[in-house]
Amino acid sequence: MRRITGRTRITAIVGGPEQTLTSLSPAMHNAAFEALGLDWIYAPFPVAGDPIPAIRGLVEAGVQGLNVTMPHKTAAARSVDRLEGMAASVGAVNTIEIRAGEIVGHNTDGMGFVRFLVRDLGLRPEGISAMVIGAGGAARALAAALAQAGAATIAIAARDPSKAAGLESLVGHAGFTALRIEEIDGGAISGADLIVNATPLGQKGEKPPFEIDLLHPGVTVVDLVYHPSVTPLVEACRARGILAQNGLGMLLHQAALAFTIWTGAEAPLEVMSAAAVAELARDG
Ligand code: NAP
Repeated sequence: MRRITGRTRITAIVGGPEQTLTSLSPAMHNAAFEALGLDWIYAPFPVAGDPIPAIRGLVEAGVQGLNVTMPHKTAAARSVDRLEGMAASVGAVNTIEIRAGEIVGHNTDGMGFVRFLVRDLGLRPEGISAMVIGAGGAARALAAALAQAGAATIAIAARDPSKAAGLESLVGHAGFTALRIEEIDGGAISGADLIVNATPLGQKGEKPPFEIDLLHPGVTVVDLVYHPSVTPLVEACRARGILAQNGLGMLLHQAALAFTIWTGAEAPLEVMSAAAVAELARDG
């Protein structure tokens, strides 16, 4: 039994009630603390309404660090004293650090995704053409991080083209295209090295957001959805011999970056990955 005392450092995740209930972050971080012998714990806090009073209250009560998940990442950006790095570009926060009394907001989603690409899929982002489907928080983080990592072109496909166009300011010098999801055709897909589903489509068995037969064999496909672990998009790609992965790798790497921000220690990736997989299996 884990011993918790007045010295135990507390970290937490603030998110919507449904998201905190199914979050894999408590399993990953608690396993990591235990593996490194750190007297730290991580707990979920479901918040249905405005998350700012909850975030400020938790900081006031002495938490050492926070994660923020859907639907509160944008509001969390207004709860901090300072936004750092990607959080400033994207305007959303998934990790909060308390540094010398100051509340600092970070966003590790985009960098977590790039680490997953490079380390787990062996795909270096320099010079690639990427297509991201969706124009929400995750798509914003990916567009900014892929551009910063040197992607040559970034296309954003969304059901609302004005929302897709709104991501142009995030991509710096990379080439940019915005299109409707229904406009994804052979021409739009033929030059893509990487296609990412950054919408919730697939969580409830929805079919892939574009015609899979349009894909060429050299493309890499990532579905940010990881529950179910094999989404219809991933399944359809694999059936055609196309490299496709779910979003668990991104989740793991964004968590590892947050862990290091809080503790200063290198995250035990294998321990965290095993904890996430075990938790997913427990959820069914
Ligand atoms: P978000 O900010 O709510 O954005 C969702 C995006 O998906 C929006 O562009 C939205 O379009 C679009 N969308 C929603 N339903 C759609 C539908 N039926 N058809 C077409 N487009 C639809 O959410 P998010 O934070 O970006 O997350 C997106 C997905 O990525 C979620 O499934 C989330 O769980 C996953 N995610 C995974 C990780 C990870 O680490 N693996 C991290 C972050 C997010 P509208 O704006 O028109 O509604």
